[in-house]
Amino acid sequence: MKILVINCGSSSLKFQLIDSETEAVICKGLCERIGIDGSRIVYTPEGKDKITIEEPMPDHNRAIEMVIEALTNKENGVVSLDEIGAVGHRIVHGGEKFTKSVVIDEEVIKAIEDVSDLAPLHNPANLIGIRACQKVMPGVPMVAVFDTAFHQTMPQEAYLYGLPYSYYEKYGIRRYGFHGTSHSYVSKRAAEILGKDAKDLNIIVCHLGNGASISAVKGGECIDTSMGLTPLEGLIMGTRTGDIDPSVVEFIMKKENSSVADVTNLLNKKSGVFGLSNDLSSDFRDLEDAYVEGHEGAKRAVDAFTYRVAKYIGSYAVALGSVDAICFTAGVGENSGFTRGLICERLSFLGATVDAEANKVRGEEKVISGPDSKVKLMVVPTNEELAIARDTYALTR
Ligand code: ADP
Repeated sequence: MKILVINCGSSSLKFQLIDSETEAVICKGLCERIGIDGSRIVYTPEGKDKITIEEPMPDHNRAIEMVIEALTNKENGVVSLDEIGAVGHRIVHGGEKFTKSVVIDEEVIKAIEDVSDLAPLHNPANLIGIRACQKVMPGVPMVAVFDTAFHQTMPQEAYLYGLPYSYYEKYGIRRYGFHGTSHSYVSKRAAEILGKDAKDLNIIVCHLGNGASISAVKGGECIDTSMGLTPLEGLIMGTRTGDIDPSVVEFIMKKENSSVADVTNLLNKKSGVFGLSNDLSSDFRDLEDAYVEGHEGAKRAVDAFTYRVAKYIGSYAVALGSVDAICFTAGVGENSGFTRGLICERLSFLGATVDAEANKVRGEEKVISGPDSKVKLMVVPTNEELAIARDTYALTR
């Protein structure tokens, strides 16, 4: 069966067509600038060159139509429409309602709408993607895979904030966590690589991309994670602050005479390693080059980033009681031996040592710890689309 995986944002739509049997990516691409001037679809059919088509896409229905055209056209299409057996949708927020992936029906759509106030930028866009697929591909079963679902096993002591309890009861204010599909995939894959049952392992997964989060996985279940009610909490990220004193918001508002919206924008878009480096870059390739050349801002940003990651690893070592493996994934985690090295230097308290040669790896599964290391350090590339395709297949086959 061929599974279409959709990750729908407010003005973009990423897609992959995956063969459920071979797990090969038959085609992948991106619709950009939906509803804005200059919209285009860029896609790469398996074994072929990248194709770009610039055409107005006034809405997501048209974007989905163009995806289907791209996948099925006579010249360079890869399937016929009736071969697409199911669609898997990445949904950012499932609240407490969704603890695993589900087949989409009207009740599920309503429940996703109901938690939209927890992710006002993301869930409505995800729903638009679902509606567009219903319209363009009626009758094809669809599955919702939630970024928050894997973290729903966290105990109350880990997910509650120190707020009056009534705010949790009334509004659902708590830690939910994100990147769950990635944390789940990577922790399971790490167990496979180590030839062990996930039930017997304590694993810390460091998902270090532009957005970054970390989770503690005990016996295959998440017991804590760094992102919170929203993806702003936790690690220092590309442009997001991660943890700060909440009073900073009011303090900046007074000093700069700015609004809540201005400060929220500052915390999400202008902070993190970007802000710490004095706006040098949010891209770790730029920051690492500058760090090596002695750029003070780059060093300040990367040092704060690696310190925060190590500090979380320390706290999750406490939560887990003992640590069998620490996994690095996503753009920085998979590709940057430099940043991994700086983080691992701080982990001697765990008896962790790095094999410098192995740590040169980029984008491949590899154990990077030394033979004497008390903890396995691993690079495990994430594959959220494959995880979504697997769940979609399992629920619709
Ligand atoms: P997201 O999905 O959150 O947008 P990614 O997981 O794609 O992010 O990661 C993007 C980050 O990965 C960027 O900061 C980029 O600089 C970093 N990255 C990619 N390749 C490398 C590399 N070779 N060395 C260092 N950082 C890298």
